[in-house]
Amino acid sequence: MPPVNSIVCVKPVPDPRRWSELALDPVTKTLRREGIPIVLNPLDKHALEEALRIKERFGGRVTAISMAPLTASESLREAIAIGADDAVLISDKSFAGADTLATSYVLAAAIKKLGKFDLIFCGNQSLDGGTGQVVPEIAEFLGVPHVTYARKIALVDGGIARVERAVEYGYMLIEARMPLVLSVVKEINVPRHVPLMRISEAMQAEVRVWTSRDLDVDSSRIGLSGSPTQVADLFLPVLKRRAETLSGAPDAVSRLLIQRLHELGVL
Ligand SMILES: Cc1cc2nc3c(=O)[nH]c(=O)nc-3n(C[C@H](O)[C@H](O)[C@H](O)COP(=O)(O)OP(=O)(O)OC[C@H]3O[C@@H](n4cnc5c(N)ncnc54)[C@H](O)[C@@H]3O)c2cc1C
Repeated sequence: MPPVNSIVCVKPVPDPRRWSELALDPVTKTLRREGIPIVLNPLDKHALEEALRIKERFGGRVTAISMAPLTASESLREAIAIGADDAVLISDKSFAGADTLATSYVLAAAIKKLGKFDLIFCGNQSLDGGTGQVVPEIAEFLGVPHVTYARKIALVDGGIARVERAVEYGYMLIEARMPLVLSVVKEINVPRHVPLMRISEAMQAEVRVWTSRDLDVDSSRIGLSGSPTQVADLFLPVLKRRAETLSGAPDAVSRLLIQRLHELGVL
């Protein structure tokens, strides 16, 4: 197998430990992420790990890319600390407010600019948006096949990837010719531990920043104005659940529980 050049799409997402601070913007119908620390989308770490294992086996390069605000350069440096050879941040005010189609359009344009690739790795879905749409959309824009839910990947001679695609009660075995876009599930591997020292060293690493001027993109297809998705409404659901604690001897509590379930119409 010749060396394999991989591109890993990594999305910086709001730190889930601080989600209670996220707010909704009633005008743009988007999440207000300002002030919330960001972390690498957890599944994207599995995607990066898989690309690194393939590089360690066959040689080649691993490039991490992200479309995000400039503050995300730290996440890309983390990708370098984990093992990526280089990183590109695609960042421009004109990209803000992009829906999944406008996001994958720009990511695909950046991938074309990076040149020849064998594999593109993504997470199966992001922690915040979670649509899982970006992966097939990137593949469509690039005109290459894609396989989602990859739980095991083996590269065989002839430029073929043999992929176990997780389904509800087992897996599908799919053979696809590279170049190929893959999205992974967490069962695929255990991401390596990276010493804190390496992360702080990588904070000096160079991250290339590309704006809309660096990419061959049609300005009518980027950002909020280039996004065909119309978000009709965005709201926090009101939780109507209430808790009731029954206490006493087990027999009495069991009888009380059955009585309450009857009263509530559950039984
Ligand atoms: C009208 C509208 C406006 C929006 N405005 C904004 C906004 O201003 N700011 C904002 O942050 N989001 C915005 N979003 C959300 C944004 O469109 C999605 O977060 C983004 O397109 C990715 O979709 P997803 O999170 O569902 O990714 P998924 O499809 O669930 O992600 C799958 C995988 O794709 C890759 N991936 C996804 N997004 C990126 C990325 N940006 N860079 C690199 N890899 C990626 C990762 O590997 C990820 O694991 C907006 C959405 C809509 C509908």
